[in-house]
Amino acid sequence: SDFVVGLTGGIGSGKTTVTNLFAEHGITIVDADIIAREVVAVGSSGLQQIAHHFGKDVLLKSGELNRPKLREIVFAKPEHKAWLDALLHPLIREQMQLQTKQASSAYCILSVPLLVENSLVHMVNRVLVVDVDENTQLKRAVSRDSAQGSDEATIKAIMQNQCTRQERLAVADDVVNNNHSEADLSAQVDTLHTKYLTLASQTPRSPT
Ligand code: ATP
Repeated sequence: SDFVVGLTGGIGSGKTTVTNLFAEHGITIVDADIIAREVVAVGSSGLQQIAHHFGKDVLLKSGELNRPKLREIVFAKPEHKAWLDALLHPLIREQMQLQTKQASSAYCILSVPLLVENSLVHMVNRVLVVDVDENTQLKRAVSRDSAQGSDEATIKAIMQNQCTRQERLAVADDVVNNNHSEADLSAQVDTLHTKYLTLASQTPRSPT
């Protein structure tokens, strides 16, 4: 696709729920979280470089990345974090560009939880923010994550580390309001889908 809609929103705002609704319209979803895992998958050059830089300790017996170990290393030293970001950010951006380009639907959705925080707004034609009031967000995130052990304090800490609702809304071209039912959400996505089809058809194709 030559028309890329960047989708973002805070933790538990409903990004996955919204992308599933676009997927039902046949729209290709490119997910930054999935790409972030792909670039360090077994056999990737990303993983090879990490193991070379930090030593074999960052690998599990299976050859996969030992994420808790890597988190410990980069948490301990800012220069380790800087090195890792300098390696991974370009790899992730490159894959995001490749996969959105290869998407065959009329437009595609690039889902990036930290689109605003990581200054990636320039990568997309339009920014769609999933907006929800903080109380609802907290309640939904806690009830979804309680099985995995993320309590209210953990979710609150993550929310503190993300940009504010206002900062996100300030860069939004479109907003889906997810304070209400999933049926209500679905109706909003239908309207946006029609709008994006029109916008995509008006966008000149970039040379291939
Ligand atoms: P994360 O960033 O943490 O991955 P997310 O933004 O992808 O979260 P979802 O997983 O889509 O958010 O939604 C969070 C939780 O809230 C899920 O359990 C989802 O089923 C629920 N949820 C989403 N939208 C609604 C809604 N309109 N009404 C009720 N529950 C909802």
